[in-house]
Amino acid sequence: MPRPILATIHLAALQHNLERSRLAAPEAKVWAVVKANAYGHGIERVYEGLRSADGFALLDLDEAQRIRALGWRGPVLLLEGVFEARDLELCSRLDLWHTVHCEEQIDMLAACKTHVGHRVFLKMNSGMNRLGFTPERYRSAWARLNALPQVDEISHITHFSDADGGLGIAAQLACFTEVTRDLPGECSVCNSAATLRHADAVAVSDWIRPGISLYGSAPDHPERTAASWDLQPTMTLSSKIIATQVISTGATVGYGSKFSAEAPMHIGVVACGYADGYPRVCPSGTPVLVNGVRTRLVGRVSMDMLTVDLTPVPQAQIGSEVTLWGHSSQGSVLGIDEVAQAAGTLGYELMCALAQRVPVQVTD
Ligand SMILES: *Cc1c(COP(=O)(O)O)cnc(C)c1O
Repeated sequence: MPRPILATIHLAALQHNLERSRLAAPEAKVWAVVKANAYGHGIERVYEGLRSADGFALLDLDEAQRIRALGWRGPVLLLEGVFEARDLELCSRLDLWHTVHCEEQIDMLAACKTHVGHRVFLKMNSGMNRLGFTPERYRSAWARLNALPQVDEISHITHFSDADGGLGIAAQLACFTEVTRDLPGECSVCNSAATLRHADAVAVSDWIRPGISLYGSAPDHPERTAASWDLQPTMTLSSKIIATQVISTGATVGYGSKFSAEAPMHIGVVACGYADGYPRVCPSGTPVLVNGVRTRLVGRVSMDMLTVDLTPVPQAQIGSEVTLWGHSSQGSVLGIDEVAQAAGTLGYELMCALAQRVPVQVTD
């Protein structure tokens, strides 16, 4: 028998979460963001769940090819644009729309001999200070692009640094709307957090770009939970108990003896470790479900195993189901955001880090 660890991708949840984005932005078209191999879920695996999107946004040319290979004929957007001149040929061949965030990318377009017109999204650096033209240089970049015969249509795009938190988006949104005010073209400004939290940003959006919310994680955890946004987990990581131990008061568990029992207790050894993508930094107390019942991690996570407190589930034994995040067979749910929080990180990082060695199944 193979090791009992398994990841499950839930297509109906992907579809539900996509509809949740549409509800927040009923007038806008939706880019389903599938970068990083669909946030670790696998582009081919999520495709059926997300194919009612209006387009797919990603940043790797190989991933763009994979979306086309699945039969997707609609819009595909490269969120970072091209990395070198010859990428433009692939853009023409695969009909990829691409972001233009620097003068060098305009130079590449200007030197490009293909006659197929390019659809570009001109990126404004409205305050994130990562990619894009500053507000001062944005309009001259637009004019330069607009004069190129290689360019068919120019849209406007920017990205918020604080859509999920207290700083908010007001300054960046004001900058974007002011600079693009009288320019023709569609606008795209909202990631998941802006889509769910900022109706003023949705109002200027011809396209929204949700990523993390499609995958059932709250973009603003722990201020809000996925459930409170009506988002459903799209990835379950489950395994089984492969051994149990009865330990006495004062006995320790695992490497470094980080946990010691305050009373005699049963612990379960689970076939899941950091080599499966479960964070090694998760401390004792991190939530986990055994037979659908909430309990806690005890002791250090090792490469192939972790250990859990069986006190709340006395009937648990070898073969009992363990849910590291997502849905249990009993119907209970453990949000990936809670595990991420215990690890001091975000749901994004956990789903993207699901290890290659974990078998994956897709269900409705
Ligand atoms: C990743 C990304 C998104 C999606 O962000 P989420 O926080 O996952 O919703 C949107 N736009 C751009 C430019 C991105 O890089």
